[in-house]
Amino acid sequence: MLIGHGQKAWRIVRVEDLIPGDWSERAVQMWHDERMPDPWQRAPFRVIVTPVKGGDEHMMTVEPWHFITWHVLPEHYAICAECGEPAPCIGHLSAVEAAREIERASEAMELPDGFCPACREPITHRQKVFRFAGENLLNPLGSPMVRFHQRTKCRGAAAAYEEKWVAADASRERSLLTLRCEGFVTVHADGSGECHGRNDGIDCPNIYARHRMATSCAYLSHGCPKCPPGSRHGCRLASGLNTDGSPS
Ligand SMILES: [Zn+2]
Ligand SMILES: [Zn+2]
Ligand SMILES: [Zn+2]
Ligand SMILES: [Zn+2]
Ligand SMILES: [Zn+2]
Repeated sequence: MLIGHGQKAWRIVRVEDLIPGDWSERAVQMWHDERMPDPWQRAPFRVIVTPVKGGDEHMMTVEPWHFITWHVLPEHYAICAECGEPAPCIGHLSAVEAAREIERASEAMELPDGFCPACREPITHRQKVFRFAGENLLNPLGSPMVRFHQRTKCRGAAAAYEEKWVAADASRERSLLTLRCEGFVTVHADGSGECHGRNDGIDCPNIYARHRMATSCAYLSHGCPKCPPGSRHGCRLASGLNTDGSPS
């Protein structure tokens, strides 16, 4: 099978499953966090490829958090006449992306006020919303208050909007939609948590911010001083904690 990856065509020689002993530490951690399903759909694997015309084998390990960025090419794949890369080449893809961008912009312009830009459905009075005051960054003619449904389906678009909204005015504060912390969170048996990492959590903006990683304290190498020995639990924080992760 041929694949296009990194603007080149490759032939897949073989695909190897990795045994758990060969997984990266982070992959093992994710597997534990997902309660060790077997088989695990996201188990790491390795793809061995060569250039299409033959040559050295290259190996790539696909970790559970990787997005697969290659695409399958037909045996007689097309080459872009402009640049010689497998089609569609980057130039072509950015042209398509630009066309999509324009399409999205004009869709936003047609959206009536009071509709959610993510799902394009009306927002009722009873639905919770993410709201952003200030000029409308999707539609200059639209209402100055942009609102998204506060639900999973609309969250990604609301987060993307918040990125734009913060970029437009540095004095604006991020919400939990896009708030990040460089620290690591340890989660205790009662669902409370602590941030470690930079300044040992002192400058942690909020325990519910997106952290580099959250781990159950069951993995602390010397045991957890706060929890009963041997208590096993996941790495999900309880809701309603104080922003420093202590129980309220
Ligand atoms: Zn041919
Ligand atoms: Zn090209
Ligand atoms: Zn919505
Ligand atoms: Zn603990
Ligand atoms: Zn933190």
